[in-house]
Amino acid sequence: PGDPDPQVRAAVDAACQAVLDDESRLTELDQVVGDGDLGEALARGARAWQEDPADGSAAYLLRVLSARCRRAIGGTSGPLYAAGLVAAAQALEDGADWPGALAAGVDGIQELGGAEPGDGTMVDALRPAADAAPDGWEAVLAATEQGVRSTVEGVSRKGRASYVGARGQGHPDPGAEAVLTWLRAVREAGRA
Ligand code: ADP
Ligand code: MG
Ligand code: MG
Repeated sequence: PGDPDPQVRAAVDAACQAVLDDESRLTELDQVVGDGDLGEALARGARAWQEDPADGSAAYLLRVLSARCRRAIGGTSGPLYAAGLVAAAQALEDGADWPGALAAGVDGIQELGGAEPGDGTMVDALRPAADAAPDGWEAVLAATEQGVRSTVEGVSRKGRASYVGARGQGHPDPGAEAVLTWLRAVREAGRA
């Protein structure tokens, strides 16, 4: 596992708690534009971490979180988060800094899911977040909020399009909203 990294442990704990606190809102959002299981699915992943958390290096923590996500979340989000977290962990092990790790994680999600920004998925929040990461947290959260807003108007071309098509128009993508939720929590954990 490597030397414990209490800061990253606190960030993962905070991200999981934030997802749990936001469960019902995320479910409601996914009921509008998807199949209504996102809050429950992400909450399963967060609970899997809380019930069996880990201590170790930052990369180790992300690998354990990836395994929890892969087992507990399922659906579309589970494999995507699992792939992103493994890619971010690998980048850290290869010497990347946090902006580099976030970029690698988003690359991993895009490689597996095939979504580009503008397709109306969590990538609309994650890619701008990663692009802004070298400029610091203010820029990351502003870019993420802007990315979430951009999902309101567009017709989704991935994921929810298979359920609702244009019905999703006028509503944010729940996966993008979830990204904003846990990124805010990670930021707050870093300030504490
Ligand atoms: P489902 O119930 O459709 O299996 P989830 O509820 O687990 O999916 O996750 C839905 C979220 O997954 C969407 O809101 C969107 O942000 C994201 N998503 C869907 N397809 C993709 C994709 N190809 N690439 C990235 N994210 C995607
Ligand atoms: Mg769903
Ligand atoms: Mg589903």
